[in-house]
Amino acid sequence: MFNVTIIGSGCAGLTAAIYAGRANLRPLVLDGHEPGGQLSLTTHVENFPGFPEGIMGPELIENMRRQAQKFGAEFRSGTVTEVDLTRRPFKITAGRDVHETKTLIVAAGASARLLGLQGEKELIGRGLSTCATCDGYFFRGKAIAVVGGGDSAMEEANFLSRYASKVYLIHRREEFRASKIMIDRARANPKVEFVVPYVVEEILSPEGLVNGVRLRNTKATEKREITLDGIFVAIGHDPNSTAFKGKLEMDENGYLIARHGSLTSVPGVFIAGDVQDHRYRQAVTAAGSGCMAAIDAEKFLEEHKD
Ligand code: NAP
Repeated sequence: MFNVTIIGSGCAGLTAAIYAGRANLRPLVLDGHEPGGQLSLTTHVENFPGFPEGIMGPELIENMRRQAQKFGAEFRSGTVTEVDLTRRPFKITAGRDVHETKTLIVAAGASARLLGLQGEKELIGRGLSTCATCDGYFFRGKAIAVVGGGDSAMEEANFLSRYASKVYLIHRREEFRASKIMIDRARANPKVEFVVPYVVEEILSPEGLVNGVRLRNTKATEKREITLDGIFVAIGHDPNSTAFKGKLEMDENGYLIARHGSLTSVPGVFIAGDVQDHRYRQAVTAAGSGCMAAIDAEKFLEEHKD
């Protein structure tokens, strides 16, 4: 029986583990299908406070993991497939194991959607990114593309135009999901060129670094190649919340809904990080919410010492 089980080992989960560990709660951390979360998929992180020279995402995550282990956190692999939150202790099924826990912190994160092209994952950090805030700075004076037609794509195109010499906004339809104000802003930006209706057929990377894209017009047979140094995939995120459907409150996109900090509608269950945040999605905000969840879990255990 664990005092605290933390689902997810990204920035939120590991921060929760550090805090719960230091409170002598010997937390169990379940790694999930993407150990280390989104930070482990990025390269240089320059906006995490305390690292004036920046730090590589995987190194930052590894440091957090060691810090959590130092305070007694136990790690196990296995994706959570089933949770029973109807009574305490809660039962968490991960792989073949069933864990019993007095409190639960869900920090399962969100996964950026990718285009599904061959070799795409290997190009993350090599010219392909799913986070403009994280990686835009690396493309100063360079030509880049943003793929997507939602608010994220519009916002990222505008944001990235601060750095890039040119931003191609590639979208598969002539209509956009984005709000009018966001589209108008992008259209008014002299550095942003709309390339519609096109899908990315191939990311060109002869030497393992992005140097162009081959596009196909979705309304004609025409193909087109654009030379560029970076491609930002902004086609949405999916919160990793499937296991909690019908068990925890979530919005129409599957993001869990927090009440007062990290609390949920189920006493003893707390949430942190991107699984409950589609707005900020930053490493530092995820870490902050992980800290809050651990403090809330500790208080809960203190108040329920039966
Ligand atoms: P989204 O609204 O779901 O839009 C995703 C876009 O990606 C759509 O244009 C979609 O095309 C395209 N897409 C999806 N899969 C694709 C694929 N496999 N290949 C090519 N294109 C693909 O996602 P989002 O832009 O991340 O926004 C998510 C939520 O956050 C929205 O509610 C949004 O309003 C909100 N948001 C708000 C702001 C803001 O107000 N400042 C900023 C960012 C996000 P189709 O349209 O053809 O399906």
